[in-house]
Amino acid sequence: MTRKIKVIGAGLAGSECAFQLARKGHHVDLFEMRPVKMTPAHQSADLAELVCSNSFRSSATANAVGLLKEEMALLGSMVLRCGEEARVPAGDAFAVDRERFAAAVTAAIASEPNITLHREEVTSLDRGDADYLVVATGPLTSQPLFDAINDFLGRDGLYFYDAIAPIVAADSLDMTKLYWKSRYGKGSGTDYLNAPMTQAEYEAFIAALLSAELYPLHDFEQAVHFEGCLPVEEIASRGIDTLRFGPMKPVGLEHPVTGERPHAVVQLRKEDLSDEFFNLVGFQTKMKIGAQQRVIRMIPGLENATFARFGSMHRNTFINGPRHLTPTFRANSDDRVFFAGQITGVEGYVESAAVGLLVARYLEDPTPLPYHTALGALGRHVAESSPDRYQPSNVTWGLIEDKVGRVKKIEKRDRQAKLALNTVREVRSAGVPPAADGRPRPEEILRS
Ligand SMILES: Cc1cc2nc3c(=O)[nH]c(=O)nc-3n(C[C@H](O)[C@H](O)[C@H](O)COP(=O)(O)OP(=O)(O)OC[C@H]3O[C@@H](n4cnc5c(N)ncnc54)[C@H](O)[C@@H]3O)c2cc1C
Repeated sequence: MTRKIKVIGAGLAGSECAFQLARKGHHVDLFEMRPVKMTPAHQSADLAELVCSNSFRSSATANAVGLLKEEMALLGSMVLRCGEEARVPAGDAFAVDRERFAAAVTAAIASEPNITLHREEVTSLDRGDADYLVVATGPLTSQPLFDAINDFLGRDGLYFYDAIAPIVAADSLDMTKLYWKSRYGKGSGTDYLNAPMTQAEYEAFIAALLSAELYPLHDFEQAVHFEGCLPVEEIASRGIDTLRFGPMKPVGLEHPVTGERPHAVVQLRKEDLSDEFFNLVGFQTKMKIGAQQRVIRMIPGLENATFARFGSMHRNTFINGPRHLTPTFRANSDDRVFFAGQITGVEGYVESAAVGLLVARYLEDPTPLPYHTALGALGRHVAESSPDRYQPSNVTWGLIEDKVGRVKKIEKRDRQAKLALNTVREVRSAGVPPAADGRPRPEEILRS
């Protein structure tokens, strides 16, 4: 049945979503506020403008984002097709000529008779005469709409800033130097791994933190740091012992065998969705990637750490997905409202476009893609992460359900990728009809 759909925001997610819906025969009113009103980062009136780097990251399917792109290509992503048209040589990475890419997306949208593009700022979540509303206004959603979304979601719904700590792979840790313990022995006993430091190790670590190279803050980000959530290097700059009285406090973390209290401790917490990865507690950071690798590998037991995600801190509008969204990006409180792109708590150009693609699909077929696919894993992250610790994330292997089990990592990634791609091919050819009640199907389908 042909539907009328209002899509707000013509960035990566909104453009992909509108295009896919139009191709399915639906009528789309696509609202983009630029150039009438600019964001603090965009420079042009083009749709899907890339605001910073020109890279869609790795193309190799051993990498989760490479797998995600393959899956998107199988489902006919317009954003990826435009990326191919604008591609520039960058080795293993998928990099594009920024202007040509945005021009190609703008042309693709303009050529769709089922899309009407409105160049105006939207300030409410009023659907008007549309059957569905898709909000895809991204990390720099304008203030009036931010307020409207906040009112719609209610308390603890929407954030304007993210603080991400690095995540390291469990199999890269030297377990002979680490020990399991929750502070004061609370919890299950295997919730946290602890990396103890001597005074000399701690002081060398602080010196390295203080001299690490940092990403500069954009002007519009200057005001976003809260006392309760400072970058680790900012805490270190307040005095040699400040971290030891904060996130690296050793009290209650005495060594379980010797009973000794270390000078300082770095705590690593299991990521929710997999036991393969650990998050460094309190280590949100503005350090550049090279500096993060160097400094974090100074922590005992992390000398050979491999990173599933680097830390970051920046201005970013995002919803507390686990509280407010389903794995199909539909609002819990209103069946006719979807969110797409970075505002759902995914991070990055590719992930944002992927959610646009998914929402166009889920509007017709409310069955979430299986969680062992990279696409399905984005919905898993958004809906099933811990609501109390929810932070935006790129797609990582830690989010993708592991159906392969314990085999060597290279073989494992290869098998996971093949399984995921086969599933997406099956989903594509099945053209599964919507569930009768319009709701997601049972667990067994999700996990199949
Ligand atoms: C400074 C900065 C640097 C970044 N660098 C990178 C990077 O290097 N690599 C990377 O992968 N990701 C980067 N990101 C994240 C990147 O912006 C997102 O991954 C991606 O652009 C999100 O896609 P989106 O469609 O959700 O939002 P966007 O691409 O931002 O699109 C949202 C659109 O909505 C419009 N809009 C906003 N409010 C309204 C309104 N009220 N009414 C109508 N239209 C509205 C905006 O003008 C915009 O065109 C960066 C983000 C920022 C802020």
